[in-house]
Amino acid sequence: MPDSLGEVQEDMMQRGGCLCGAVRFETTSVLRDVIFCHCSQCRRQTGLYYAATSVPRSSLRIMGDTLRWYHASDVARRGFCGTCGSALFWERLEGDTVSVLAGAFDDPSVLRPGYHIFTRGRAEFYRIADDLPCYADRAPDPSKDP
Ligand SMILES: [Zn+2]
Ligand SMILES: [Zn+2]
Repeated sequence: MPDSLGEVQEDMMQRGGCLCGAVRFETTSVLRDVIFCHCSQCRRQTGLYYAATSVPRSSLRIMGDTLRWYHASDVARRGFCGTCGSALFWERLEGDTVSVLAGAFDDPSVLRPGYHIFTRGRAEFYRIADDLPCYADRAPDPSKDP
């Protein structure tokens, strides 16, 4: 039944994009639980903290020529829209996954919360008020940050 199979795949497709709409992305991957990163780099880029899921790079299709990458460190780069400034992606240079900002999804309700990392870097004007696990630095599985 090719028709119904096509429908199932369409249902699994998750889409999102930046504030102005110039950068769009889509993936059919299972979405990792959202990790909240409170490090100083994420604070400066977002104004507060990072909340991102992650997908295999091969499963993510990105469209839009305003996407820019900023190499915030020797090991990772951060993707954002050069027109509206929306933070969108984080990826380790030598990795095979891409973190995708939770708030960039058209339907963020499909996402589930995971845990907090780099809470040592949290700005003091806000509290972490949920009961998710917190790690002062990176998570025990370093492949999962952020
Ligand atoms: Zn934009
Ligand atoms: Zn961070």
